[in-house]
Amino acid sequence: CGVVGVTGNPNATEILVSGLEKLQYRGYDSAGIFVDQPDGTNYLVKTTGSIADLRKKISPEVQGTAGIGHTRWATHGGVTIENAHPQFSSDERFYLVHNGVIENFQELKDEYLQGAHFNSQTDTEVVVQLIDKFVKDGMSTKDAFNQTLGLLENSSYAFMLMDRNDPETIYVAKNKSPMLIGLGDGCNVVCSDSIAMLNVTHTFLEIQDGDVCVVRPNEVIVNDPTGAEVDRETFEVSVDP
Ligand code: GLU
Repeated sequence: CGVVGVTGNPNATEILVSGLEKLQYRGYDSAGIFVDQPDGTNYLVKTTGSIADLRKKISPEVQGTAGIGHTRWATHGGVTIENAHPQFSSDERFYLVHNGVIENFQELKDEYLQGAHFNSQTDTEVVVQLIDKFVKDGMSTKDAFNQTLGLLENSSYAFMLMDRNDPETIYVAKNKSPMLIGLGDGCNVVCSDSIAMLNVTHTFLEIQDGDVCVVRPNEVIVNDPTGAEVDRETFEVSVDP
């Protein structure tokens, strides 16, 4: 399984799909992408087939500068289109991809989301519905993301969240699942393995477990688990000529 994200690049769709192709070696049973289009139309494509099948389903005219993609290795909920990621909130404002497992998703659902409508059987959907609920209660997206992360117990995750009201920003968090941020020229990327994004950049930022990041075309903000803004080491990935 794997995750990819990009913001600030007019070829977002192609970068996501070719990134997912390069992450196929990690294994998966379904895949999907979300791209926010300049006209405000959201574009969500999912498949339970191969990445080649995902590519076939994508209309070439779909253009956007930011998006997220996912290959899924199902842990909660069968291999269906509904359970493939990105998962989204009921009003389709928030889109989330997740690698890992939310151990206490049922408890969170029972405590906070009684009566809510769910589109999938995944543990992941509880997270995006919780973020949406906290925003509806009055929090900013970043605060709602942090609040939700604080409720997850014994869980593993590489998360990327997009808010259609702020379409150039990707919110990122990681715990016990691999994830890197890649620094491009006027564009930034996120990926499980640098191999997915070497056609965009060779410079990557090593984020740590518990970090929460905000990634925009020209900036990356990393907050450590205490909330303090920190600088993380960058490293260069060399490619054989
Ligand atoms: N637990 C999530 C699910 O089953 C994510 C699985 C993954 O890591 O791909 O949908």
